Amino acid sequence: MNRDIKKIVAQMTLEEKAGLCSGLDFWHTRGIERLGIPSIMMTDGPHGLRKQEGQADHLGINKSVPATCFPTASCLACSWDEELAEKVGVALGEECQAEGVAVLLGPGVNIKRSPLCGRNFEYFSEDPYLSAKMAAAHIKGVQSQGVGTSLKHFAVNNQEHRRMTVNADLDERALREIYLAGFEMAVREAQPWTVMSAYNKVNGEYCSENKRLLTDILREEWGFGGLVVSDWGAVNDIVAGIQAGLNLEMPSSNGLAEKRIVEAVQGGTLKESKLDESVEALLGIIFKAVDNQRKNTGYHLREHHELASCVARESMVLLKNQDHILPLAKQARIAVLGAFAKEARYQGSGSSRIEPTKLECIYDEIRQAAGLHANISYAAGYRLDSDAVDKALLQKARDTAQKADIAVVFVGLTGKLEAEGFDRTHLRIAENHQALIEEVARVNPNVVVVLSNGAPIEMPWLDRAKGVLECYLGGQALGGAIADILFGAVSPCGKLAETFPRKLEHNPSYLNFPGEGDLVEYREGIFVGYRYYDSKKIEPLFPFGYGLSYTEFEYRDITLDKDCILDTETVTVCVKVKNTGQVAGKEIVQLYVKDVAASVVRPEKELKGFQKIFLLPGEEKTVTFTLDKRAFAYYNPVLKDWHVETGEFIIMVGKSSRDILLNTLLTVESTVTVPKKLTRFSTLGELLHNSAGAEVANTMLAASAQPGTAEDQAHFVREMMKGMPLYKFVQLSRGVFTFEMLDAILASVNDRSE
Ligand code: BGC
Repeated sequence: MNRDIKKIVAQMTLEEKAGLCSGLDFWHTRGIERLGIPSIMMTDGPHGLRKQEGQADHLGINKSVPATCFPTASCLACSWDEELAEKVGVALGEECQAEGVAVLLGPGVNIKRSPLCGRNFEYFSEDPYLSAKMAAAHIKGVQSQGVGTSLKHFAVNNQEHRRMTVNADLDERALREIYLAGFEMAVREAQPWTVMSAYNKVNGEYCSENKRLLTDILREEWGFGGLVVSDWGAVNDIVAGIQAGLNLEMPSSNGLAEKRIVEAVQGGTLKESKLDESVEALLGIIFKAVDNQRKNTGYHLREHHELASCVARESMVLLKNQDHILPLAKQARIAVLGAFAKEARYQGSGSSRIEPTKLECIYDEIRQAAGLHANISYAAGYRLDSDAVDKALLQKARDTAQKADIAVVFVGLTGKLEAEGFDRTHLRIAENHQALIEEVARVNPNVVVVLSNGAPIEMPWLDRAKGVLECYLGGQALGGAIADILFGAVSPCGKLAETFPRKLEHNPSYLNFPGEGDLVEYREGIFVGYRYYDSKKIEPLFPFGYGLSYTEFEYRDITLDKDCILDTETVTVCVKVKNTGQVAGKEIVQLYVKDVAASVVRPEKELKGFQKIFLLPGEEKTVTFTLDKRAFAYYNPVLKDWHVETGEFIIMVGKSSRDILLNTLLTVESTVTVPKKLTRFSTLGELLHNSAGAEVANTMLAASAQPGTAEDQAHFVREMMKGMPLYKFVQLSRGVFTFEMLDAILASVNDRSE
């Protein structure tokens, strides 16, 4: 419907406008009947709908209506499948429509800085490109159904510890290249209706009051045209928030915000026009939501369950398969061990907790998949309500394992070990889970470990398992997916969206996580995840992008459509990938880029493209990638822009960040010259490297050479001179070389090199 929003705002009283800026209750915006402004519902997200009808809370404690519980983002990201993420978005949008929800709070695109962050299960990756692609697909899917999304938590919200007060202190390149890049690409590509400002501070300023983030970057630079809503309870100063670009405080602060806004406008500290602007943005989304609301719709429960099952199958990652222990033969005597097999851990705790419409039991699914030949035994092995070893349960599991050909052990992280609201302090699984693996391995050499966890764990027991299947938190339909992979009905095809370090101490944020008091310094800068492990040559347990299959893939013939491009042009990269194994399978082909020689520090490689393809045995496909400026650029804080340095780049294509099979060189020429003014503090070496300054620099070098010195000494003097700032030559020249002369040289050189 066509409405004149400005006209509506013009009819509102100051109190009405101020009132709209804070919620009606926990989940709804306020409405104003006399002006035909309705109230809409915003609720969690992101991997299922958590609509509470009774008691409200943002901790996932009180009941919500049943909804499909899809695998969490940490799991879905391992599918590396944008189409699939979009389908999940469509399904979520349908469920929102059926429940009258206008905005679904998600996706979360925060970077996994440390594997300890309690909320990593809700985030996609340690890499901004992969995170952005998955988030954009999710947003497009949900919004295609006329339901809004809320891209969260903007920004630099990478830990739960003191999340409401901590100040994330980081440099501009880390901010832009790592922590904002995911938000930026998702905003530009998918235009979420809303963005949620995070609890924490960034470089000294609360996100909800951060003009640089909410206005200068989000709206002005990236062109965001929607509504900024605070995270639940993330407003500290509503007036400062509105000044900065926040539009809506959630949940309601019961009249406090309204009062403060009215006072500020009356007292002249907040311009009414600024308030109007904010209310206009809010009304834009409210009306968009009601115009798109469908009446009396439902959704197909079974189809959504099947989609959840498909996501689980596409996302689980086979980490180890020694002696081809998997897939299992259906007639084998299989011991299913671990209480998780009957009471699965399939989602995380906190605001994203869902009441599933149905929940598959892994053990039942395994029995069913094994069919007529099933010879399956079970023992719990550990208690679910305690981390301590229960000797009797362990003994029973050991006896059960002894009588079987293969022991499949279900372990992982319990809800007590990871959840929203707190971070882990170590990467170990519970004592009783580890004891189960070790005890079983003593009596049976054929151990397959099946993991349920939202984030990486250490695996000191890895040598004792022949097979390891990482299921993450696989959603309500995880059971059938696990059974299908274990018996080979499908070939596993997920790959890790994050690095599994050998030990926590190897993680780049280790010495600065979760910070001291309310300050966390991101001292590792841009070196997050594989960017760090690769540059420091630290062998991870399992690298970023890694995952095994039941089939084999061969890569050949990498070609570029051009050898040299301007940074304003694109290049097309093609490779051929063939399934050389015996069964059908999917491969995730990954493309990374490295700047061969840069004047600034850059990672060994960065992900700039990926594609998931399905290949029958013997089949070959050509995979094509298109790369533009951003694939080669770094963020230049002086230019305040993305910048490509002229030079060569290595284009790498492979199966994982540590398994590069093909590479080729491309030259990229910059169309931007970075003004580099020389000053009195520039070195002689810098003058030498400046084409307009080389001659005079050589003269200065020659003048300072001592005739008759041995070559090695002359060399060291020259090198030392090159490192000296130019003003030192004035000081050392005993009046022969003056500041006036130096300034004249600098002026002429700077003039000529412009
Ligand atoms: C979480 C958000 C969530 C909101 C509403 C907050 O505590 O950080 O992700 O959307 O609660 O439940």
